[in-house]
Amino acid sequence: MRIECIAIGTELLTTRRLDTNSVWLGEQLAGLGLAFHRKTAVGDSREDLAALFREALTRSDLILTTGGLGPTFDDFTKELFAEIMGVELVEDVQSRDDMLAFYAARKRVPPAVNFKQALIPVGAEALRNPVGTAPGVWWQDPPEHPGVRIVMMPGVPREMKRMWEDQVAPRIRPLAGAAVQTLRMVVAGVPESTLDERTREVREAHGHLDWSILASLTQVELLARGPDAAALEAARLAFAPVLGPDLVSLGDGNLEDAILAELSQRGETLAVAESMTGGLLASRLTAIPGASEAFLGGVTVYSVVAKAALLGLDPEWLERVGTVSEACATALAEAVRQRLGATWAIAICGNAGPGTEGGAPLGSVFIGLSGPGGTTVKPITMAGDRVEIQLRASALALDLLRRAISAGR
Ligand code: AMP
Ligand code: MG
Repeated sequence: MRIECIAIGTELLTTRRLDTNSVWLGEQLAGLGLAFHRKTAVGDSREDLAALFREALTRSDLILTTGGLGPTFDDFTKELFAEIMGVELVEDVQSRDDMLAFYAARKRVPPAVNFKQALIPVGAEALRNPVGTAPGVWWQDPPEHPGVRIVMMPGVPREMKRMWEDQVAPRIRPLAGAAVQTLRMVVAGVPESTLDERTREVREAHGHLDWSILASLTQVELLARGPDAAALEAARLAFAPVLGPDLVSLGDGNLEDAILAELSQRGETLAVAESMTGGLLASRLTAIPGASEAFLGGVTVYSVVAKAALLGLDPEWLERVGTVSEACATALAEAVRQRLGATWAIAICGNAGPGTEGGAPLGSVFIGLSGPGGTTVKPITMAGDRVEIQLRASALALDLLRRAISAGR
């Protein structure tokens, strides 16, 4: 089933209002094992809307619109669809009564323009709106478009959601067929293009699945979708040797979840000392519920003063070796590990820009990792702006720890 979403409203094209309706509807569809093949935001222009509606009718089986059902001059969703189909709008008695009751309950008289809202295209069905005045429309098999379903819902998110849940989702659920399932593989430490290349062959061998690769600053996700659980399981088994230790986890989690779960399972703990990332690492770890089982805490030691006062590093020594150095990363990791009595400790120091710090070049990062087998430091040069470097460094640190844990170092 080809499903298209059309979010209507000029304000959605500006920064004044974000189109949250289509995001929400996309989530709801995913819950039914369905997905949009297309979504558009469009302003309140008759020409643009009519052209888009006509196009949508040629390429989609289910068209979901939100917005443009109100009583004012810029609301004409129903009118345009009726025009395209060559039918009239007629008053829906239930909708008019609902609207009158809505106003009566508030001891108000509806303005004359509001009666326009009760007009529904001939052949379509009104969807009642228990929390507002604009009814929606369910239009199945409109003239000359057998098999097509048009669903018009209000723009007000609260009204749209209620209408979807009570009246639209129940009608769409039976159309969903076999629920589509997703195999999600989270990979770290491998650039997207390398992963693409490395997995091409096995991906093609499982080409009947719908594949996508989703890269962020911190990880790459490899997604396969299909209705057949056995086919997904076969893909998982085929990928395991190809991804090897680069595979972080399967399912919903990410790097942080995987590390915390692994540590908890082993009864091991983690402490962090962060300079350049300023607490980002701790923040990412503590965003996971239950992090306290394995994450003891740490310090943000941004300045020499903090490195000295909180972890006992000697300011003169720091001056000599530099605050962005292998020696500094080693000392920070060992000090925080020892002070908190943790199994593992991560330290991050570096220069995320825009200037140079302690004479270290922009993007130069040192990640210290201290564990039962000793301390190692990974020096690396990173590109990007300040926030990107901080994010990448925090992800790399977590990935180094993950690999060290699984290697049993
Ligand atoms: P309308 O039904 O076009 O009169 O829209 C009513 C209200 O809902 C307005 O405040 C809109 O800004 C808001 N709205 C319309 N469409 C959306 C959307 N796609 N996402 C979030 N809010 C919306
Ligand atoms: Mg509008």
